[in-house]
Amino acid sequence: MTRSSGSRSTILPGSTVGVLGSGQLGRMFALSARRMGYRVHTFSPGDDTPMGQVADREAVGDYQDLDAVAEFASRVDVVTFEFENVPFEAAATAAEHVPVRPDGRVLHIAQHRRREKDFLHDAGFPTAPFEHVPDRETLTGAIERLGTPCVLKTAGFGYDGKGQYVIKSLDEADMAWSAIGAGEAVLEGFVDFESEVSVIAARGADGAFAHYGVVENRHRDHILDVSIPDAIVDSAVADEAIRIARGVLEALDVVGVLCVEFFLGHDGTLRVNELAPRPHNSGHFSFDACATSQFEQQLRSVCGLPLGDTTRLAPSAMVNLLGDLWQVGAPDWTAALADPALKLHLYGKGEARPGRKMGHMTVFGDDREDAARRAVAARERLVRSGA
Ligand code: AMP
Repeated sequence: MTRSSGSRSTILPGSTVGVLGSGQLGRMFALSARRMGYRVHTFSPGDDTPMGQVADREAVGDYQDLDAVAEFASRVDVVTFEFENVPFEAAATAAEHVPVRPDGRVLHIAQHRRREKDFLHDAGFPTAPFEHVPDRETLTGAIERLGTPCVLKTAGFGYDGKGQYVIKSLDEADMAWSAIGAGEAVLEGFVDFESEVSVIAARGADGAFAHYGVVENRHRDHILDVSIPDAIVDSAVADEAIRIARGVLEALDVVGVLCVEFFLGHDGTLRVNELAPRPHNSGHFSFDACATSQFEQQLRSVCGLPLGDTTRLAPSAMVNLLGDLWQVGAPDWTAALADPALKLHLYGKGEARPGRKMGHMTVFGDDREDAARRAVAARERLVRSGA
């Protein structure tokens, strides 16, 4: 069910979309895609996964098993991904059978901090000062040049602050190197930021661009805690953040959704922290609060359909639900849902480990701060008093 339009083909409703990965981003993508009449297949090493539970087919296999990836790709009309740590070779193998959107080159850059930083730097996008650290010997000189504090990060496969170490003095070099696993790394200057913000944007197969504005992100222990759309920033800062996001999508020729995470300095300076070439946790509010969610937008873009309207329907805020909430007993869902303006999302994960993203809640309010207060209050009610 493919229609050719120019060099890029349109994948119509009724077709099958394949997703590499099977977590909560894939789950919400699948729910959106099925609503529009698509079939969805997921491929990952797990079974009974968040996405597999709602997909038409859950293929279980190793990303390194390129025969299994090829078999998966041969049964779908287009392939996308829901997390960027899929090996590049898997995307390349899928591309021998069907279009892969965004292109595997985007995955290749975004899954490796050195490549990502080099791309951003070479394309003229602002970042924290950084140095490549291929081995322990290089680390000492890099710390001396960047000064302390600075942040050592593994080059590959890091997320949510994993594989990071804040170095406060030169004599912590050995400790930092072994803490992150002693592999190729990137050292970044520590950014004394005012806040963290993100821009989630989509680019269609025809080059059309849409964005969800600037989102304020509050973290706890390096993990996203609360996201509030319509960040309170100068309009010039908001314009600049969106200009950078658009520039990144265009420079990478992204067809799909991409999130740019920024540090916002006290003087209004924006620095790109990292890129995620897929829907992002900070855009989950859009599932309930926007005319077109980031997941539907991903579907529309990778299928070559026109992008949807990103208008926010009401002030809202999102809070993450981590496994920590389960540690003192089952959360009190009834107490949270006592707020009628609350939307509960649970990802179907069996084991509630501390730090594991189990779900989120989006709450509407009179304004953004009211929504954030209500969201945090609802989460506090989840933990039963006396538990
Ligand atoms: P990341 O996994 O690189 O997104 O980092 C997770 C979190 O660690 C960020 O959201 C920041 O709160 C903090 N962080 C990372 N890099 C830096 C930096 N260079 N300076 C200050 N804080 C940082």
